[in-house]
Amino acid sequence: MKVIANPKHAEHAAPGEWENGTVIPCFECPPRFDAIRAALVTAGGFDFEEPPKASEDALAGVHHPAYVAYLREASAEAKKARDSNAKQLWPTVFPYGPNPRATGARALRGTYCYDTYTPILPGTFASALGGAASAARAADLVASRSESAVYVLTRPPGHHAEPDRCGGYCYLNNTAVAAERLSKLGPVAVLDLDVHHGNGTQHIFYARPDVLTVSVHGDPAALYPFYSGYADETGTGPGLGANANFPIPVGTGPKEYRPVMAAARDAVARFKPAFLVFAFGADAHESDPIGGMKLPTKFFAEMGAAVRELNLPTVIVQEGGYNLTALGPCVAEVLGAFAG
Ligand SMILES: [Zn+2]
Repeated sequence: MKVIANPKHAEHAAPGEWENGTVIPCFECPPRFDAIRAALVTAGGFDFEEPPKASEDALAGVHHPAYVAYLREASAEAKKARDSNAKQLWPTVFPYGPNPRATGARALRGTYCYDTYTPILPGTFASALGGAASAARAADLVASRSESAVYVLTRPPGHHAEPDRCGGYCYLNNTAVAAERLSKLGPVAVLDLDVHHGNGTQHIFYARPDVLTVSVHGDPAALYPFYSGYADETGTGPGLGANANFPIPVGTGPKEYRPVMAAARDAVARFKPAFLVFAFGADAHESDPIGGMKLPTKFFAEMGAAVRELNLPTVIVQEGGYNLTALGPCVAEVLGAFAG
């Protein structure tokens, strides 16, 4: 299987994240990429490739141009800063009132970000754009039918990135970039099996009838991103019926996960898409530090097989997964099911 690997991923490495008033080590870190790569090399049968030079054109139809400009300019501002504190741009105040006015730099930080886990650093834009370029390349390979399934090895992840806001470690929505590209050629389904709701992907395509978004994730009453991911969010306008959420209780194990995964897959099959984008996270693993689910490593082979059964040209995009020991083996299990 071809793997498109983001050559710029390590340029973004957050020094920590703000959790309930405390700075803790950032779970989303460059060793995640290395752990996956090492596991795939060990497993064998993977052909690693870098994408062509990144272009912002890949973001058209996915992110608002003003947001893309903000990410680009804020990263450049962080790069130019002399003291190390100014090289990290964290939002601390968020928009309020009926007509929030963002004219200064500090206001823009809160305007374009919705949490305290997602700082802008000197290399953030280059790193995120490298992921988008990787997703675009994978989509092109699948679209040309030269490959039936291509895996995008990248970080930071993307599915929490909204059209105009970063959050949840995500800046540019790689899954949505692949889906948007493929949607020029036929209907596309996105199946998101990261443990967190793919809020950004849902919202990017919420009014679109040609891109189905389906997500299985921890109940947002208990798990990030908290404000979306409920079962009654089904799309809007022409996109009504083209979004399906399957929230599950934190603590879910294989026995309860299996029928929900099958229902999500069946929702994809009923849509009769021409292409599939599989947003994969390994953070439903039993040892994940932030997921809270109980899926063992071997279950991920079953997950891969369930998605493979759809028998669709598929781009597999790496989203979360934060246990550095479990992450690589989980990815290898999922991809092994596609290769086998
Ligand atoms: Zn996640």
